[in-house]
Amino acid sequence: MSTATLTIDLGALTANWTALGSMGRAEPGAVVKANGYGLGAARVGRALAKAGARTFFVAVAEEGAALRQALGPGPVIYILSGHMAGDANMLGDMDLTPILNSLDQMIRHLESLPGHPFGLQLDTGMNRLGMEPSEWAAVRDIALAQDPQLIISHLACADEPDAAMNTDQLATFRQMTSGLDCPLSLANTGGILLNQAYHFDVTRPGIGMYGGMPFDRARPVVSLDVPVIQCRDVAPGDAVGYGRAWVARRPSRIATLSTGYADGILRCLGDRAAVWADDVRCPIVGRISMDLIGVDVTDTPSDPRSVALLGPQQGIDTLADAAGTIGYEILTSMSERYTRRYLGG
Ligand SMILES: *Cc1c(COP(=O)(O)O)cnc(C)c1O
Repeated sequence: MSTATLTIDLGALTANWTALGSMGRAEPGAVVKANGYGLGAARVGRALAKAGARTFFVAVAEEGAALRQALGPGPVIYILSGHMAGDANMLGDMDLTPILNSLDQMIRHLESLPGHPFGLQLDTGMNRLGMEPSEWAAVRDIALAQDPQLIISHLACADEPDAAMNTDQLATFRQMTSGLDCPLSLANTGGILLNQAYHFDVTRPGIGMYGGMPFDRARPVVSLDVPVIQCRDVAPGDAVGYGRAWVARRPSRIATLSTGYADGILRCLGDRAAVWADDVRCPIVGRISMDLIGVDVTDTPSDPRSVALLGPQQGIDTLADAAGTIGYEILTSMSERYTRRYLGG
């Protein structure tokens, strides 16, 4: 097999979800947008449902429809982008619950799917999605008369525990929802970790379940093993890859791997990251190609048949740091070409 294998430990994933859920009394939901952060929404969703999750969040209705097919009837599936034009049939047929973000969406929903459940999103300062305080004041009574299932807002700085933005948003959310008798939801992974004041009735963990920061006690969920296509000796002064970007300084053994930037291994990682052959660190040398990467395996006892790009020695956040990005982007960039192998669940 020449494609890399992405191994997804569903036991670790559900353990992370349970750990985040046990940090307070709120019902833990589960965010499985973007195909379950790249890991496969159907498998991830079914494992979480089996572990007790009853409330799921996805970004768009199409994802919700696919998730409903995987989960069957029962769990609530919220659509974070709300009710977009043309979605009424899908929302209705697949029993999806849009989280309405504006007066426009509310009118569209009440007109095209009267009586169909919905949630609401309030903007408490992030200025991304949701109704602002003035808009909310104008539609609040109409909206509440229609019995929203959940009212949410989203934190802009939850991964920075000392940011004043967190307490500001908490205060605004409390003000905007005071006196309401409707379930509330504010916290993503970072918000869960801040403290219980942020938890309200339903939490929305994403990255922490998948093993990423800011949940520093998360169990790692993914490992990525990449086959070596061939190995060669390179003499001092010889270059490897496009642009002669890396030149050997010693007699070197170079392995060419079957993955590249088309698979989500960001091109900026060239010369800045490494892979592991068991416990030997093998630096990436030269530029990352579309489907290929060169690594220096001079220090391995023998030519490896495959190497780990993600594994016990190097998690998603280590690779993210090297690329100047976040674990979320590493996960959601994982190639469709990879063979996904699931453990547990
Ligand atoms: C993506 C998302 C989450 C999950 O966030 P994590 O930081 O991955 O836990 C929660 N709520 C909303 C509205 C989101 O868009």
